[in-house]
Amino acid sequence: MSERVFVGLGSNLAEPAEQLRQAFAALGQLPATRLAATSALYGSDSLLAGQPRYTNAVAELHTELAPLALLDALQGIENDQGRVRLERWGPRTLDLDIILFGERLIDEPRLKVPHYHLQARAFVLYPLAELVDEGFVLADGRALAHLLAECPLNGLQRLQA
Ligand code: ATP
Ligand code: MG
Ligand code: MG
Repeated sequence: MSERVFVGLGSNLAEPAEQLRQAFAALGQLPATRLAATSALYGSDSLLAGQPRYTNAVAELHTELAPLALLDALQGIENDQGRVRLERWGPRTLDLDIILFGERLIDEPRLKVPHYHLQARAFVLYPLAELVDEGFVLADGRALAHLLAECPLNGLQRLQA
């Protein structure tokens, strides 16, 4: 069965917009997966002071991959695009996080879904809202409109369609 999955993309190194475009193409090449939609690109302030601003987006996938198989594939794309992990939340060429995986609630050591911090991240919520119906409710019962209303903008800027 195919699942509707939302992946959050972020980059703040090495031409971030180009990194995201390359990542969209790589997502479209994943096995047993279709890239169904992509949001606009957004600019946002880094969560940690002193880092360059981020470019973010959300992609919608329809996939038959299991959640951990998809996580492995996403980490493969991060590595292919030169991701180096030095410090937690350090600057990166590409971050691919699973935001939602169908209606599933996942709490495993390597994978928590819905993403644990999405309610505090305008750079996830606004692009996600472009891809879902008004009135969208997360698998854990939270209404997206409510999360949007409560979330600080942190310098969020819509860059292009
Ligand atoms: P944050 O999770 O706060 O956005 P980050 O994306 O920078 O931080 P990473 O270094 O990309 O963190 O990932 C650290 C670990 O998080 C990964 O190795 C992965 O196992 C785990 N992880 C847990 N839940 C998820 C998820 N929903 N999507 C992607 N990775 C996840
Ligand atoms: Mg992340
Ligand atoms: Mg990540």
